[in-house]
Amino acid sequence: MTTETAAPGVWADLVGQPRAVATLQRAVIEGRHAMSHAWLITGPPGSGRSNAARAFAAALQCPNHGDGTCQHCRSTLSGAHPDVTLLQTERLSIGVDEVRELIQTASLRPGVGRYQIIVIEDADRLTDPAADALLKAIEEPPARTVWLLCAPTPDDVLVTIRSRCRKLSLRTPPDAAVAELLIRRDGIDPSTAAFAARAAQGHIGRARALARNEAARNRRHAVLQIPGRLRDIGSCLNAAEHLVESGKEEAARQTAELDARERAALETALGVGTTGVKPKQLAAAQKALKELEEEQKKRATRMVRDQLDFALTELTGFYRDVLSAQIAAEVPLINAEAAETITALARRTTPEKTLACIDAILQCRTDIEGAVNPLLAMEALMLTLGGPFRGR
Ligand SMILES: [Zn+2]
Repeated sequence: MTTETAAPGVWADLVGQPRAVATLQRAVIEGRHAMSHAWLITGPPGSGRSNAARAFAAALQCPNHGDGTCQHCRSTLSGAHPDVTLLQTERLSIGVDEVRELIQTASLRPGVGRYQIIVIEDADRLTDPAADALLKAIEEPPARTVWLLCAPTPDDVLVTIRSRCRKLSLRTPPDAAVAELLIRRDGIDPSTAAFAARAAQGHIGRARALARNEAARNRRHAVLQIPGRLRDIGSCLNAAEHLVESGKEEAARQTAELDARERAALETALGVGTTGVKPKQLAAAQKALKELEEEQKKRATRMVRDQLDFALTELTGFYRDVLSAQIAAEVPLINAEAAETITALARRTTPEKTLACIDAILQCRTDIEGAVNPLLAMEALMLTLGGPFRGR
């Protein structure tokens, strides 16, 4: 029997990734031979990519290979190490100016640590000019510089960049590992942690939100009620409208505060409201603010899509449960709390019809991702899902 013990020290929160941890630990301990100056860390959303990058950075700086207790470890994990630069962004793209700044930092010798480390958390958002600039930097890095790039899949990064990186892929962490993390790190009680881990299907951030946030649990509950309520065309169209509206509300709630904070920061940087601003400066400031507004608008649209994507993930899990009930698969239900609806639906339809529902959900995801009007895409989906109920 193999037991999966949580690696100690800085690796403790990187749950369910024993292979990745082993690779990174070996690179830290063996140094030059197992080390690379550029890494591409990939994995599905919520698997812990940025967590892995931070832990790796901490272990590289630590004189004890990542004990988790020294100043180097603690300051790296908290984002305060002077020789570890983290680029996190809420923006949709990372531009060439930001990358040039990082390259400048990367060219410096480390001050207190063993390496100069640059982490780009969303390397899939690099613009083409930014990626070109970065490419030159990672081709010939200074001896003690390490670049850590994170992205969902290798395909999300230009081939020229990924071919120069050592690749590390994370898997979807198992439910038990996610639950254990929620209990240990966030102080969640075991039964809520088990529920949240199962419901989030391996997405750590989503599991944490479900465990800590009642509104998130309520939204999920509402989504799982949908399949049982699709009785006619009217109820299908209503369900679609309701899903899109609640997605918009939640996205608006999340963006409002972020937008205001960014605007205030930009206004301060531009000196808006201070006396003695020349007309030329004022025009430049107005242009910058307008650009920010446009980007915020695009982000708001994306966040609505993200919310709808969560709902579609829940629905996929629901129909996967229906299918396993129909084929009597010996796997635990993702949505044990909706077992009754699942069993009822499983009896009334066939595995073929359930598969068609899952296909329709995936199609809806693709459509929404491809900028089809979300309401139209949802309506089409609900009418398909409602098919087995109609004419009862
Ligand atoms: Zn340490």
